[in-house]
Amino acid sequence: MATFDDLIIGSGMGGLAVGAMLAKAGRRVLILEAHDEPGGYAHSFRMRDFRFCAQVHYIFNCGEGETIHRFLSRLGAAETVPFVRLDPEGFDHVVVAGERVQIPNGLLKFRDRLVRRFPQWERPLRRYFEAVAVVGEELDRLEDLPERITPAALLAVYRYRHLLRYLKWTLEDLYDHVDMPPKLRAILAGQSGDYLLPPRDVSFLLHVALVYNYDRGAYYPKHHFFHFVETIVEKIRAEPGCEVLLEREVERIHVEGGRVTGVTTKRGEHFTAGRYISNVDPKATARLAGAGSFDEKRLDYEYSSGTITLYLGVHGLDLQEHGFGSHNVWHYPHQDLNRIYDDQLLRHDLSNPWLFLSTPTLHSGEPGLCPPGHQILEVATSCDHARLARLRRDDRRAYNAEKKKIRETILDVIEASYVPKLRDHLSMRVTGTPATNERFCWAPAGNSYGAALTPAHVGFQRKPFRSKLENLWMVNATAGFPSVAGTVGAGLELYRQLTGDRV
Ligand SMILES: Cc1cc2nc3c(=O)[nH]c(=O)nc-3n(C[C@H](O)[C@H](O)[C@H](O)COP(=O)(O)OP(=O)(O)OC[C@H]3O[C@@H](n4cnc5c(N)ncnc54)[C@H](O)[C@@H]3O)c2cc1C
Repeated sequence: MATFDDLIIGSGMGGLAVGAMLAKAGRRVLILEAHDEPGGYAHSFRMRDFRFCAQVHYIFNCGEGETIHRFLSRLGAAETVPFVRLDPEGFDHVVVAGERVQIPNGLLKFRDRLVRRFPQWERPLRRYFEAVAVVGEELDRLEDLPERITPAALLAVYRYRHLLRYLKWTLEDLYDHVDMPPKLRAILAGQSGDYLLPPRDVSFLLHVALVYNYDRGAYYPKHHFFHFVETIVEKIRAEPGCEVLLEREVERIHVEGGRVTGVTTKRGEHFTAGRYISNVDPKATARLAGAGSFDEKRLDYEYSSGTITLYLGVHGLDLQEHGFGSHNVWHYPHQDLNRIYDDQLLRHDLSNPWLFLSTPTLHSGEPGLCPPGHQILEVATSCDHARLARLRRDDRRAYNAEKKKIRETILDVIEASYVPKLRDHLSMRVTGTPATNERFCWAPAGNSYGAALTPAHVGFQRKPFRSKLENLWMVNATAGFPSVAGTVGAGLELYRQLTGDRV
């Protein structure tokens, strides 16, 4: 087999980003992907005439000068992959116990909207938004952070004093500090599914990063996610000596003398390169490379939770008449988000779940997702991986029955609160569980966002890194931050570490 300069295991967004930049820089890049579609969680799959993106619904940092735009511009693909912006007056609608609040772009606008609606809580609202603004501003400047202790580093301590102050805080710590009332605790954490943790557990810095980034614009690729991913793959393949090979699950990373010497796939093929990059979970990579390949501290994390996703094809009704549109809907049955998450994850009680509802066909009218006259509705919520994976392994009937039960409960909630008689209008329904994510996205324990986004795992150390092996590097949602923008950003950061070229 030919020798490559860089061999990348996995074609998730982190792997594709660093791979595309290295290919563009003239390196011979090989990407080996286990699945039959590239993109990891951002891949799309077909079901009859429908096409669904496995997990991604809306993304941030696509505006001019922001991470994804800079990346696509460097690739010469910014015009090929245009984005549409979700409604700036309300890109996310949060519905708590039936009360709907629209989140607009513009933090001050959002603050004032809430103050007008809840004037009795003006003080906690002002204090919350002040904290979000100062932390968000410092997060934005993070690229300037010096790597060694120098006078500049000491100055940085001052410039990043709010990040340092809140480093170990949860969102709930901040709520307690500003005396936030229960209803607003729920509304302000309304995008909780974007980090899959309730206020009690999520890192406050991570919450701010999410809120602050979407505040600049929530985007959807005009020609859908499959086109976004395919364009990057085509760019890589178009470079001399570069290739993206699918259905190539790497089952062994060979090591000799502290270096990777090659990889073997399940098909028995052997590939070699000068440098290796893993876009696979660090613990899973360590299992492929064997004992001693990683500093144990790097592998000391628990995973984020799994999700159940319903992919629905709808005909004979217009979802716009039921509260959907150029926005997502976040549904919470009541205002105690800590309890909702505990019910679903610890007590396995999904009888009254929180829901994320997204309508890609209302985000962009471009064809490619479903037959004419149809629309797509995607619905997700959190659930525990271990129980469903065990059922799937031990008793396939019980697993399918449980899946069906959860699906029917979710449909009941949607019919009761949003779309009466939805079931009469479904021409396609597919249900994915954390076990599905494990099978089709190779996500260990069906994890959604890599290492859990608690204060313990959110910090300056969460970025691409070199393993203990001289020529093996890591980049993914854990060796970096989750989300499409987060993992593309991690890919560009690794590219900078390897070449000195900042995109
Ligand atoms: C339910 C859900 C909803 C989400 N919604 C959004 C959203 O709306 N917006 C957003 O920005 N982000 C969203 N995300 C997060 C985002 O999709 C991920 O953070 C991001 O895509 C992860 O990229 P990654 O680089 O870590 O690679 P991954 O997506 O984890 O891909 C890794 C790739 O490596 C491959 N692989 C693994 N093992 C091997 C092996 N041994 N050999 C070869 N290949 C291998 C896998 O098949 C996979 O293709 C969502 C995630 C989930 C689960």
